[in-house]
Amino acid sequence: MQNGGLRLKHRVAVIGAGWAGAAAALTLARADVAVTVFEAAKIVGGRARRVEKTERSFDNGQHILLGAYDRSLALIASLHGEHVDHVLERRSLSMRMAAHLPEPLVLRAGAGPAPLHLATGLLAARGLTISEKVATCLWATKYLLCARPAASATVSELINEQPRRVRALLWEPLCVAALNTPAERASAGVFIEVLRRSFLPNRSASDMMLPRVDLSALLPEPALAEVVARGNTVLTSSVVMALRNEDAGVSLVTRDAEHAFDQVIIATGPQHVARLLESFEHSQLLRHALESLQYEPISTLHYEFSAGMDATDAAMLMLDGAPGQWLFAQRLPNGRVRASVVISAHHRADDEADLLRNGLAQLRQSFALPEPIWSQLITEKRATYSCTPAQVELLSHLPRAVGAVRFAGDWCVPELPATLESAVISGERAAQAIIQSLPKLTN
Ligand SMILES: Cc1cc2nc3c(=O)[nH]c(=O)nc-3n(C[C@H](O)[C@H](O)[C@H](O)COP(=O)(O)OP(=O)(O)OC[C@H]3O[C@@H](n4cnc5c(N)ncnc54)[C@H](O)[C@@H]3O)c2cc1C
Repeated sequence: MQNGGLRLKHRVAVIGAGWAGAAAALTLARADVAVTVFEAAKIVGGRARRVEKTERSFDNGQHILLGAYDRSLALIASLHGEHVDHVLERRSLSMRMAAHLPEPLVLRAGAGPAPLHLATGLLAARGLTISEKVATCLWATKYLLCARPAASATVSELINEQPRRVRALLWEPLCVAALNTPAERASAGVFIEVLRRSFLPNRSASDMMLPRVDLSALLPEPALAEVVARGNTVLTSSVVMALRNEDAGVSLVTRDAEHAFDQVIIATGPQHVARLLESFEHSQLLRHALESLQYEPISTLHYEFSAGMDATDAAMLMLDGAPGQWLFAQRLPNGRVRASVVISAHHRADDEADLLRNGLAQLRQSFALPEPIWSQLITEKRATYSCTPAQVELLSHLPRAVGAVRFAGDWCVPELPATLESAVISGERAAQAIIQSLPKLTN
């Protein structure tokens, strides 16, 4: 459609340029809808972004994508084309514990098609006894293929019948990694949904994808560059302070101007939605629900070493949770190794220096490391909402639109945990809902 076509006359604002907002804006722009993006920060990406500090750039936190992230991977492929293998490294499922740990587990995808590859992988795993392996295969068969947990069940209740070591070595670490919520509080329904999407469709769904460019460059920056190239506007360092419901659309207030739009997508974190909706009638229940949400933090300890760690061997290792749960390593262009230690659902009281020291001491149990050349702790206090049965139930009943305002963001797809994939799905869904409404609106 040319400039001046019906769709281009329809003005849509997207508030927030995290992965949800970027996916929404790109979907609208590709359908020739005129879109303006407002992002409060200087760098786009939200909770999955590049940080520029102390003459370095690094991610706010290590992220991994799964082969099951159909929508995120499709969008990334459409943006990076033939270079997609350079921006995401695909690894077959591998859960390997750092070597020094007393009960090392090594689990890899086994032979055969899905879901047989999980069973053959479990049977060949190192660190589990035969009876533990058989009990785990039977449990996985039951929950992947037939049984559905009760909506109110926690992961601890779900895995209660599993041997203690299998719970501690496999399911509890997987739960906190996937849901960013400890097993005793995490939703069994969402956990099983993640396992089903990862192990049932095909072998590659359980692959792990490690970003090899920074998180902003992986999706939000190229997506928004295309949005601009298609004649639209992206405003960074631009905070939307309020929305006003008008007869014909929505007014959006920034520090220095008021802008009129036909429709708006709010793609901020859930904690920012209520304030934006303050002047909207009938939004009280939604605002109270979102204000009541509880969150889980994630801390990431970044270190740079000149020697002592092989980046290939340590690309992704499980740790014992004291304090780090996972280690990710990669070689930088300058030859150094960057090690990122992740602590999910991390409610620790340790101060920054202690945590960095304890993380280093933990790494030194497995590697002969010199003093780090650089270290940095980043704690995202509201990394994700807590994926508890009660919150999943609450979110699944919330509306996805109020008048001419639609919502996007990881909280809008509560059948999945708060992830890059739920953010992208929500952004695409919100944009599609607008696109599908257009013929009616413009007639
Ligand atoms: C440390 C960490 C590790 C994680 N690890 C993983 C992982 O391994 N795999 C995975 O899939 N997921 C992971 N996640 C979760 C994932 O990052 C989030 O689910 C996802 O990024 C949420 O995207 P979003 O677009 O919904 O929201 P956000 O990323 O929060 O984006 C919202 C945007 O809105 C902007 N904004 C807010 N208010 C305003 C306003 N008034 N005006 C203008 N702009 C505004 C914000 O600045 C932000 O850029 C992790 C999260 C963290 C923090």
